[in-house]
Order: sequence, then C-alpha cells, then structure tokens
Amino acid sequence: ANRVLEVNNLQTHFFTDEGVVPSVNGVSFHIDQEETLGIVGESGSGKSVTSLSIMQLVPNPPGRIVGGQILFQGDNLLKKSTDEMRKIRGNDIAMIFQEPMSSLNPVYTVGAQIAEAVLLHENVSKREAFNRAVEMLRLVGIPSPERRAKEYPHQMSGGMRQRIMIAMALACNPKLLIADEPTTALDVTIQAQILDLMKKLKSEFHAAIMLITHDLGVVAEMCDRVAVMYAGKVVEEASTVDIFREPLHPYTEGLLASIPRIDETRQEKLHVIEGTVPNLLHLPRGCAFAPRCPKAMDICRREEPTLSDVGDGRKVSCWLHADGKEAVS
Ligand code: SF4
Ligand code: MG
Repeated sequence: ANRVLEVNNLQTHFFTDEGVVPSVNGVSFHIDQEETLGIVGESGSGKSVTSLSIMQLVPNPPGRIVGGQILFQGDNLLKKSTDEMRKIRGNDIAMIFQEPMSSLNPVYTVGAQIAEAVLLHENVSKREAFNRAVEMLRLVGIPSPERRAKEYPHQMSGGMRQRIMIAMALACNPKLLIADEPTTALDVTIQAQILDLMKKLKSEFHAAIMLITHDLGVVAEMCDRVAVMYAGKVVEEASTVDIFREPLHPYTEGLLASIPRIDETRQEKLHVIEGTVPNLLHLPRGCAFAPRCPKAMDICRREEPTLSDVGDGRKVSCWLHADGKEAVS
C-alpha cells in the first residue's frame, strides 16, 4: 500500500499557568492511499490537537509540538519551514472543520474563494480557475453552480457551506484530507449526503482521509480502520470490522455500548461510561482509564500499559491483553 501519512510518537503539549498539559502524549498511526482512518474519543482526548499538529496550526503559545515525527509521503513535516508548510496546507493536505463559516471568507464569493485555491497551486488563468470552481461546485452537488458561484457564504445553508468547504479542499486535489467532525453541526439528512460525498471523492481522487469524530455510527459507515484515543494517547487500533465485532480495550467497549441502537426501544437506558476524562495536568499513575475502568486490576493503578501488537493487525494498550506480547513503542 502507498503510505500517505505516518505519525510517530507525536507529542504536543500546552504550556499553561497551571502547568504542562500533554494533550497529545506519544501518538502513532498511519494512513494509506484511498484509506479512511477514523480517530475517535471523547472531547479532550487529543483528536483535534492531533489534526492541528499535522497541519502545524497548533496555537503557539501556549501549544508546541515537543516530540515525534509527522511523515507525509516519507517527508518529515516537522522539518518544514513556515513557507513550505503553507504550500503543503490546502494543496497536498486539505482540512475541513465542523464549522465551515469560520474557514470561509465572508467578503468573497464562494466561486472566487475556490478559484483562489486553484490559482494557489496551478498555473491557469483566472477565468479557467473560476470555471474549475463552478465544476467543483457541481461535483459536490450544489444546484445551479454558475449562479451559486457568484454568491457569498452567508447566502448559503450550513449544509451547502460544508459542501463548499469540501469543494475548496478538493479543488487542490489533496493527497490527504483531514476532516474534523465534518458533519456534527448538520442535520441527519445533510450529514448522510456529506458522508456519501466524501466516500465518492475518496475513490475518485484517490485521497487518504483522516476522519475525526465522536460518532461511532459515522465510523462504521466511513472508516477502514479506527484509532481510539483516550487522554492524549491511542489506546486501541484495529480494522473497523474488528473493533465492532470484538473491542479489546474496556474504553472501546464502553464507547460501543453507548451507541444508541435504532432497533432498541426508547425506554432502554443509554449506557454511558461512568466518570469523566482525567485532568491532563494530574494524570493518574498507571493506566489513565483505571479510575473509570470496570475491569481495573492492581497493576493498572501502578504501571502504565503500552500500545502493543496483539496480532491480526490489532494494537491495544491494556494490561488485560499485555502478557507475552511485544511492545510496539
Ligand atoms: Fe482497565 Fe487496566 Fe486495561 Fe486500563 S489497563 S483499561 S485499567 S484493565
Ligand atoms: Mg474536537
């Protein structure tokens, strides 16, 4: 497989008045071409900081990448200059966010903005770039794209703005698309349309997708593999099929148990994982999940487990699955 992204032992810390917050605390994963990796976890688990780190958009101060490697097509992005990174962003790597309004410029028409993205990396005339913009709008299912291209972001619905973000991202034909909760703010029908669109574009553009979500329904529909994050670390990684069939980490089990099922009666109480995400300033000794884990043992409160290869392409960081297994990192 063609490896697009490989993140090795990434550490992104925030230096606050209260102390150092290790938001991303030694994260490793990879994504191959035409593959969608889901990154799941509760808010505060480090998912978004991981994606901002890849784009090198972590607000500094207080944030800083303090260790690790981000290999994009074999090239370490952490060695790039600000200028080089600017060219990579929105050209080789595109990102779509939860709130498209914040990334669209209110004073330019959407056609002009997409054309701008095309002009940034391709040697074409302004007219050609604008025609490409109209083409992209058509591709993402915007009705009357010629007319819509001349409108401003505020004249569009939330779902349409999200499509425009995708059009803009794809105008650059990126190798990697990072989507951070891309459908969270949208209603269910629009959400399904956007997800279908992302799938279509993955196969047509041969991109790799990193999809950050807290929604396991979205993962089931979209992702080939899943990395589950907890307290700044990946605690389990496996194919989507394996994760849903047999979650190994108690946290993953808890997440899966909390998915509402359509076939269950409304009265059925939703299982939620008891307790809250630990304060990263005061991480417990041993396994960070131990205070919430129904299966915690003595060793869990003493020693931290490491992400270990447990066979069949699966990795898990939990003492329940640790004996005799070789540590990965
Ligand atoms: Fe639970 Fe222990 Fe596994 Fe942590 S290491 S998830 S506390 S069983
Ligand atoms: Mg987030």
